[in-house]
Amino acid sequence: MARYTDPVCRLCRREGMKLFLKGTKCFSDKCPIEKRNFAPGQHGKDRKAKIVGYGLQLREKQKAKRIYFTQEGQFRNYFEKAARTRGVTGEMLLQQLERRLDNVVYRLGLGMSRRQARQLVRHGHIQVNGRKVNIPSYQVSVGEEIAIREGSKKLPILEPAKEFASHQNAPNWLEIDRDNYKGKVLALPKREDINLPVNEQLIVELYSK
Ligand code: SF4
Repeated sequence: MARYTDPVCRLCRREGMKLFLKGTKCFSDKCPIEKRNFAPGQHGKDRKAKIVGYGLQLREKQKAKRIYFTQEGQFRNYFEKAARTRGVTGEMLLQQLERRLDNVVYRLGLGMSRRQARQLVRHGHIQVNGRKVNIPSYQVSVGEEIAIREGSKKLPILEPAKEFASHQNAPNWLEIDRDNYKGKVLALPKREDINLPVNEQLIVELYSK
């Protein structure tokens, strides 16, 4: 499946809630959800039917997929791996999404959105334990150190990202050294560490049919 390239604000409008995909814009009055909180498209305003059952499960899956910018096949792989792992399947699913390197770069405050963080990874600006890793889906492990490469510390996006992140809650499963643009994985994230408007149990029900 092709990667989504249309304006990402449409994704929030489709879900009827802020998914926080665009950094500072999400907290400003320029956020389209503030002005046009209805589905995009010609008949978006007319679609007011209450979603139940399968529709609800589908929306929860789409929401999680969109927040982490993953594609359908990859998302299903995460689910299947979660189902094989010991623990609550929904939590294991979210844990894998949260452990993606692009998400961790975002959580460390090196990018203002997961999309920006993914670009940093893709363009080779990120190191894990001193070695360049340019795979956004790389799963971080406890004890690993994630940092901006020395030669990339002058990137203009880093300073505003640091300022933006200083107003966000820092996740307690990561040790963050904002001044040196790096951080360390202290533990694997638990459900209570993952502040997401997603009901993962509905995703499990969807894939378990
Ligand atoms: Fe979503 Fe942010 Fe766009 Fe608002 S500004 S619609 S929260 S991506």
